[in-house]
Amino acid sequence: MTKIGLEIHCQLTKLESKLFCNCKADYRSIPQNSNICPVCIGLPGSLPILNKKAVEKATMISLALGCQIPERISFFRKNYFYPDLPKGFQVTQYNAYGPTSIGSDGAVQIEGKEIKIRRIQLEEDPGRLVYEGSSEKTQITLVDYNRAGTALVEIVTEPDFENPRQVRIFLNVLADLVENLGVSDPYLEGAMRVDGNISVEKANRVEIKNVGSFRDIEKALHFEITRQQSLVERNIPVAAETRHWDEARKITVSSRSKEEEQDYRYLPEADIPIVRIAQNKVETLKAQMPESIVAKKERYVKKYGMPPQVGDVLSSDKFYSDLFEKAHTDTNAKEVANIITTDLMGFADTREKKMELKITPRHISDLADAILNNKITRNSGKLALQEMVKTGKSMSEIVSSLDLGNVSDMSSLEKIIDEIFKEEEKAVLEAKQNPDTVNYIVGKVMRKTKGKADPRTTLEIIQRKLSS
Ligand SMILES: [Zn+2]
Repeated sequence: MTKIGLEIHCQLTKLESKLFCNCKADYRSIPQNSNICPVCIGLPGSLPILNKKAVEKATMISLALGCQIPERISFFRKNYFYPDLPKGFQVTQYNAYGPTSIGSDGAVQIEGKEIKIRRIQLEEDPGRLVYEGSSEKTQITLVDYNRAGTALVEIVTEPDFENPRQVRIFLNVLADLVENLGVSDPYLEGAMRVDGNISVEKANRVEIKNVGSFRDIEKALHFEITRQQSLVERNIPVAAETRHWDEARKITVSSRSKEEEQDYRYLPEADIPIVRIAQNKVETLKAQMPESIVAKKERYVKKYGMPPQVGDVLSSDKFYSDLFEKAHTDTNAKEVANIITTDLMGFADTREKKMELKITPRHISDLADAILNNKITRNSGKLALQEMVKTGKSMSEIVSSLDLGNVSDMSSLEKIIDEIFKEEEKAVLEAKQNPDTVNYIVGKVMRKTKGKADPRTTLEIIQRKLSS
C-alpha cells in the first residue's frame, strides 16, 4: 500500500513583525537585505524576544486542527550550515523532553477519511537564495536575508494519505482553514511549502523536499509512485533518500546533499525562556476564533436554505463568504449566494482577478433585490454583474445605461405577445393542441424583449391568450 505523510510549512503572513525581532513580517516588498537587524542575522550579543501574536496565531492553527496544546512550550536550536541561514542554526521546536511544541495529536476529516496531525511547531524561516539566471549550471547564487526570522508554522501529519489526490484535497482544506482563521494568506508566493514522504509497497521511504505549489506536489507524488513501483517490479532497491522536484522537467531528482539523516545537534535555545500557556488564555483564544468553515457551511444550509454544494463552495472561500456576510439581508440571502457562486466566482476565480473586482457588498445586495422584485430578469442580472465588476457603477446607473429594466408594464408586454401571435400562427395553433410546445413562443418573446420580460408573467399571458 502507498503511504504518504506531509510536512507543511505555513508562513504566518498576517503578523506585523518577525518571530524574534521587530523587523517586518512582510519581507516581499522591501529591497533585498534591508529588512534585517542584529537579532535576525544573529550578531553576537543580540537577544531574541518571542512574538506573542505569533504564539497566539500558531495556537489557533493547532486548535483548529484539533490538537492538544501543551502547558509549556520551549524552543531549540537546529544546527546546520547553509548560506540562507545567517545564524548557523534555526530556532524551532523539538519534543526532546516530552511535548513542548505548540500542538500535537490532532486530526482533520477529508471526504470521510481521517488524517492525523502528529505535531505542529512554531519556527523561524531562513533567508532566500536567488540563483542568477535560470540555468541549473549557474555560477552565481545571491542571498536575501529579508525573510530570515519570519514566523512559520510547521504541520506534520501521520503517513495517512493513500494517494496524491487526498494530499491535494487536504492541502486545499488546510489553505482555506488558515485563510479563514486570518493567520496567513496561503496564496502569496512561498506562503505554503510542502515536503512529502512517500513509499510504495516494498520500497524505502523517499522524501520530496520543499515544493511550492499544491499542483506540483501532487505531480511529484504521482511521479514518485511510478518510479518506485517500476524499481520494485525489477527487484531494484528504492534508496531511502531526499529528492527534489524539478519543475521544468516534471521529475523528482536525487538531491546532492548527503543521504544519511543529518546530525542537527538540537540544543535547547537558552536565550528564550520556557513559556507557560495558561489554560484560560487558550479558552479566550478559542472564543475569539472565527467561525470554522464547517460551522459556516452548516449555518448557510440551515438558516438560509442553501443547497449543500452552494454552502460548501461559499463557506470555504473567505473572500466570497466575507462578501456574502456583508451583502445579504434576511430576505435576499439565497439570491445573493446564488449570484456569488454561479456568476461572480466564474468571473473571478483567482486571487489576482478577485483583487481587480470593482464590486461592493451593496452592488450584490441591490442586484439580488432587483431580481427578487422582478425589476430585472436573471439574464439581465448577469449582464449587470459583468458591468459592475468592470466599472464599479451603481445598479441603477447600469440598469438605465444598458437599458436592462424589465418589460414589466403589462400592456406593452401584451402588445409584444400579440405581435408574436400574429407572426407565429403555426406555432400558436400547435401550442393550443400540445401545451408542451409553448416554450417556443416564450423564447420568441424573450428574443424580442432582449431577455427583459419576466418569464413567469410572459408564460401566464401566453397561456391566457391560448385558452381564450
Ligand atoms: Zn530583525
